[in-house]
Amino acid sequence: MNGKLWIFMCAVIGVFILSCAPGEKPSELVQPENWWENLPRPVYATLENAGTFQSWFEVYKLTEGTYAIYEPYQFEEAMSYLVLGKERGIIIDTGTGIGDLKQVVSELTDLPVSVVNTHTHFDHVGNNYQFEEIAIYEDASEINRLIEGIDNAFLQRHISIESLWKPLPEGFDPKTWTIPPVEPTYLLDEGTTIDLGGRILEVIHTPGHSPGSICLLDPDNRILFTGDTFFPGPLYAHASDVNIDDYMASIEKLTSRIHEYDFLCSGHNDPWVNSEVIPRVGEAFETIFEGGGNFDEDDGLRRYYFDGFDILIRTDMIK
Ligand SMILES: [Zn+2]
Repeated sequence: MNGKLWIFMCAVIGVFILSCAPGEKPSELVQPENWWENLPRPVYATLENAGTFQSWFEVYKLTEGTYAIYEPYQFEEAMSYLVLGKERGIIIDTGTGIGDLKQVVSELTDLPVSVVNTHTHFDHVGNNYQFEEIAIYEDASEINRLIEGIDNAFLQRHISIESLWKPLPEGFDPKTWTIPPVEPTYLLDEGTTIDLGGRILEVIHTPGHSPGSICLLDPDNRILFTGDTFFPGPLYAHASDVNIDDYMASIEKLTSRIHEYDFLCSGHNDPWVNSEVIPRVGEAFETIFEGGGNFDEDDGLRRYYFDGFDILIRTDMIK
């Protein structure tokens, strides 16, 4: 075993000992063993790499003033986006909170930057507390999750040995990791516009993945920031927050506006996806509910396979 590998193994074992909280191991259908073996995803060879920060983030410049800030070493492969206008910027989601996102942002821009959350699952709000201005869709359950924060016990399984393939960054303490409570400072509604100075984004309410999920449309750059409403991985239609009818209606809503965007900046895995996939997600749900599609099943959970994405759904949701 070479030195670097040994240090890595010690770090991982250390993290494992510290983080070996009881709790169910996620199904193989949700989190396959050695999920990192397929990384890096092919898209990254085609993007402009803006550098690696704190050995934790990779940053890609997508267009002038649009950066994907990616966390490839933790299973969620969380993705935040720095979107800059002439006068100010926003950070769309703030990742897991494992790295120092504010520091990365300050190395990319001098403009004032506020947070816009696509929804409030832990891997999208982890660094909110580092910023003063925080916007969220006007939905009580999303607002409450921000105000309550998320405790260390809940977060432990996300830094288990199965969920990481690189050491955690220096200065991060798995024993004290929490998502600190924050108060939203601005509430968003359907159609709210966010003016960054020469660049205006529109809020599109897309409930389904969670009640207050939003997408953000950047019409001049023909980009749709999708949060978790779409990402090129297993879409979570099985989770407790999901409303499947709302989810399908939201995909239909995005399909009706597909002439307004060419690329999707998604909440996980891949920051630059061709928009043609959106109507196919609607068709995929229809296929599933008509009894078609290829899937694997385990303990009441099915993973359906489609071209460019999968769908996780509970068997009892189909019958
Ligand atoms: Zn989510």
